[in-house]
Amino acid sequence: MEKMNPHVIVLGAGFGGLTFCQTFNHRVTRVTLFDRQNHHLFQPLLYQVATAGLSAPEIAQPIRSILSDQPNVTVLLDRVVGCDLAERTVRLEDSTLTYDYLVLALGGHTSYFGHPEWEQFAPGLKSLDDAMGIRRRILLAFEKAENANHPAGQDRWMTIVVVGGGPTGVELAGACAELTRTVLQKDFKRIDPSQARVVMIEAGPRVLAQFSPKLSASAERQLKALGVEVRTATKVKSIGPGRVDLESGEVIFAENIIWAAGVSASPLTQKLGVELDRAGRVKVSPDLSLPGHPEVFAIGDMAFVLGEDGQPVPGVSPAAMQMARHVARLIENELLLNGKSPRPPFQYRNKGTMATIGRSAAVAKMGRFEFSGFPAWLAWLGVHLIFLIGFRNKVAVLLQWAYAYCTYKRGARIITGLADNSKP
Ligand SMILES: Cc1cc2nc3c(=O)[nH]c(=O)nc-3n(C[C@H](O)[C@H](O)[C@H](O)COP(=O)(O)OP(=O)(O)OC[C@H]3O[C@@H](n4cnc5c(N)ncnc54)[C@H](O)[C@@H]3O)c2cc1C
Repeated sequence: MEKMNPHVIVLGAGFGGLTFCQTFNHRVTRVTLFDRQNHHLFQPLLYQVATAGLSAPEIAQPIRSILSDQPNVTVLLDRVVGCDLAERTVRLEDSTLTYDYLVLALGGHTSYFGHPEWEQFAPGLKSLDDAMGIRRRILLAFEKAENANHPAGQDRWMTIVVVGGGPTGVELAGACAELTRTVLQKDFKRIDPSQARVVMIEAGPRVLAQFSPKLSASAERQLKALGVEVRTATKVKSIGPGRVDLESGEVIFAENIIWAAGVSASPLTQKLGVELDRAGRVKVSPDLSLPGHPEVFAIGDMAFVLGEDGQPVPGVSPAAMQMARHVARLIENELLLNGKSPRPPFQYRNKGTMATIGRSAAVAKMGRFEFSGFPAWLAWLGVHLIFLIGFRNKVAVLLQWAYAYCTYKRGARIITGLADNSKP
């Protein structure tokens, strides 16, 4: 009987899965890529969609069109529901498929540290739907404040609480402060949006804990200069409708609460029957394969692996892309040499870390160099434009940024889904 060509299944078309498909090059191997969305999402710019700086199509691109030039790659829109590692099968909503190699790249999801009930009051930011939901709530809140007759009601609508002082929390808080103080400020007659309260709550002693204390302090100063109330060493006790209760006993009333405090790996890792870390990430071998399953790999935010410095490789897009290239090379070599090639360990190369805070405000660390303010912001803009997928998107985003920089306006401020047009 004729032997079938080898089959590689890739789960997830985020930074890891997509890079794998773009890099993997073995003429006769079939690659099937599954994702529950039809688009690849550039998550680093999600906060700009949530704060009306960019519109959704500018940071997303159809997966099929990105991979249309890859003859061996088939893209299928389906939700993965489980994997049977012993049987070498993947279960999808509509079918079950067998593989020779499996690449798990399903990313992570928002984690509420054992309080899933907070999600309904404090949405997280992980998908385009999340971002558009947050944008709608923020814009609607200012409309409600303009309608409110009582100052107490207005204060509630005009308070935004961001829980979490990591890069996403800092970006969101800074962008919300800019939205209220520079963009919305001129458009309302009965309220003054520049008086809106933007509170950022961080449980740890400083914001951006992954940066040096000097850059954290700089980030805090830049946030405060934008008008953000930075509350470090402050723990949230509970979140309810329109209120955040702090462990200190203080209550902050806010109609917009955004959760940017926790991320854990895809819940599918729980079903694999392999060892996981506290965040649900698969503890992979140094070559990124699953212990006991050399034909299965986990990459990106799903994988827990230590770097050369003994620290876990961070959950960032360059790490996911480097892991994808490592696994692609490894499988290619193994197929070429009938399984006889060595398996080198994965080595993460940290080329730099940066976080933006707002207009001309950012912090960056590249090698031994640390810098902040305008130069860091320019570096951040350049890097994000380079990595954004699609020429059209690069041009559109560049134009939007230039427009916003020169005019202090943001184009993506339309609220949809308000009126039922079938009713008078
Ligand atoms: C708001 C935000 C801001 C960020 N900012 C930065 C930044 O500035 N710089 C940086 O380097 N990193 C940033 N990150 C982190 C970075 O985006 C991740 O590290 C990176 O996306 C991880 O890549 P991945 O391939 O592991 O997962 P992802 O890119 O998350 O991709 C996972 C894919 O799997 C799909 N999927 C999930 N479950 C299923 C299922 N059951 N069935 C089918 N498909 C499924 C998803 O649709 C998605 O396409 C940010 C993340 C977020 C959320």
